[in-house]
Amino acid sequence: MSTLTHDILIIGAGLAGQRAAIEARKQNMDVGIISKVHPVRSHSVAAAGGINAAIGEGDDWKAHFRDTVYGSDFLADQDAVKILCQDAPSRVKEMESWGVVFSRTNKGEIAQRPFGGQSVARTCYASDRTGHMLLHTTYDQLMKTRPTIYSEHYALSLITENNHCAGAVVWDMEKGKIISMRANAVLLATGGYGRAFSVTTNARICTGDGLSLAYNAGLPLEDMEFVQFHPSGMYGKGFLVSEASRGEGAYLLNSKNERFMKKYAPQKMELASRDIIARAIMSEIAHGRGCGSQKDHVYLDVRHLGEKKIIERIPEIRKTVHEQLGMDCVKELIPIIPTAHYSMGGVPTNVHTQVIVDAHNNPFPGLYAAGEVSCLSVHGANRLGGNSLLETIVFGRIAGQKMAEHVRENTRNKGSVDFSHHEEKARARVDELLTSVKGTKSHVLRTKLQQLMMENVGVYRSKTGLTSAQRAWKKLSTESKAIHVEDKSPTFNMDLIHALECQNLVTFSQSIIASALARTETRGSHARTDYPARNDQKWLKHSMAVQHGENVQLFYKPVIIAGYAPEARHY
Ligand SMILES: Cc1cc2nc3c(=O)[nH]c(=O)nc-3n(C[C@H](O)[C@H](O)[C@H](O)COP(=O)(O)OP(=O)(O)OC[C@H]3O[C@@H](n4cnc5c(N)ncnc54)[C@H](O)[C@@H]3O)c2cc1C
Repeated sequence: MSTLTHDILIIGAGLAGQRAAIEARKQNMDVGIISKVHPVRSHSVAAAGGINAAIGEGDDWKAHFRDTVYGSDFLADQDAVKILCQDAPSRVKEMESWGVVFSRTNKGEIAQRPFGGQSVARTCYASDRTGHMLLHTTYDQLMKTRPTIYSEHYALSLITENNHCAGAVVWDMEKGKIISMRANAVLLATGGYGRAFSVTTNARICTGDGLSLAYNAGLPLEDMEFVQFHPSGMYGKGFLVSEASRGEGAYLLNSKNERFMKKYAPQKMELASRDIIARAIMSEIAHGRGCGSQKDHVYLDVRHLGEKKIIERIPEIRKTVHEQLGMDCVKELIPIIPTAHYSMGGVPTNVHTQVIVDAHNNPFPGLYAAGEVSCLSVHGANRLGGNSLLETIVFGRIAGQKMAEHVRENTRNKGSVDFSHHEEKARARVDELLTSVKGTKSHVLRTKLQQLMMENVGVYRSKTGLTSAQRAWKKLSTESKAIHVEDKSPTFNMDLIHALECQNLVTFSQSIIASALARTETRGSHARTDYPARNDQKWLKHSMAVQHGENVQLFYKPVIIAGYAPEARHY
């Protein structure tokens, strides 16, 4: 078994991981970055609609702060939201100076479009390929700093010793061998987990591995019940029709050809926050006003925008709708349905991106998290579109700085502490899969989990559905311990990787179900049919879920209110 040592180990090379690495390299840290795919294939590349920053006339960070907290249904930690909104203009301008080709106004300034839940048009964009531009530009900058990148390396487990993190055990997919990576600081930047649901916008790689790395190490996961369903997924496919479409003026129509959002959000209409729109669509369908022969979707209408505007502002939407549905949205209505898109919950951190372990925000030394895998929480119960790309670069940068500080102050992990039991455990997990002769195939198990989650832990939830999900989850958990991997080759074995990912999906899904069952209120993306109102008295708090044998233990953490007291939401 080989061992490699770095000052800092970054797990994940999306925008958050890359931004952190640039910062740490600037401080002369020895940085190793591992990623299960080539860095520019990370899901950040798929982001479309844009990134928020209060840089326009008549806008300021305070308005951005208020919109974000309001959008979060008051569950966001306001100290973290302040940092996000105050730092946004500098980070976006930095990206511009690095070479991101933002779309422009007639005056030559960065163009901004309105996104859901905004009081001012605040979303900076590069056509509808913003993530692509941001990730490739950041990668250029990263390469200039010469970090060590381990592409096609898969993190199997965290090395935690004496209550601190000292590295990770990693599977080298090309060579088919286990490597022990030691570091004084480790960053989880592994992205989201849409693949726990059957209908999702997320890439196949979005399997929430980082969540299970933390959960299996005995660390808590925060606010896992808050899963964002994006209102406009392509019907039957799940692919995203970006909010850029509604930002540019698209309508939502039911089978009666009504713009039904007037009933749910009379002021903001199609630009209400995502939780409100996703619920509205599901209500229309439940009341028999869905479209198509099955009455199980609604329409998005972009036709009135005209071909010229569609080609200029949302060309990717037109292209993907054509590729996936064989339709031309210039002339035809797009059938849509809410689709699992983003995880507000994740590995809990403080504003310094240090992973925390209890209700008093005590850190777990050496371990950091940034980007979608983390829960700061800047999005609370519902994220506003355009705030996630922003979070990756604001807090990715902070993570790089804080890890460098930590490394300068702590040198202990570079020593010769014996980590062999961590390696042996990881080795046993891989060997068990590679020598399996029977058991469920990973794609079968994954599909079962995805359907279970979609049916019972989707836009609307209830005690009955969640309890039955909890029972069914137990069976899936047993099956996941003995997955049958047919391909026995050690090198580039995707059957093995899919099995490991599937085990991770099953593992952290337990925390989503348990946190959702316990939270007897409706807030943001967590809508309970049996508890339709928000209940601040009882539930203005963050859920924390910890693995406890076969079960989950929940505890709660106060929400940080810093300037904006909760009020009822109306759009
Ligand atoms: C289709 C789509 C469109 C979106 N559009 C927008 C938008 O317009 N605006 C916005 O603000 N947000 C948008 N989002 C959300 C936003 O893009 C993501 O939240 C954000 O980019 C996540 O970045 P990240 O760096 O945290 O993770 P990612 O970019 O997902 O990167 C994760 C990294 O972790 C690595 N990794 C994962 N597991 C392992 C493992 N076990 N071992 C090794 N490496 C591992 C992966 O290889 C990858 O490099 C969109 C999301 C989707 C899916």
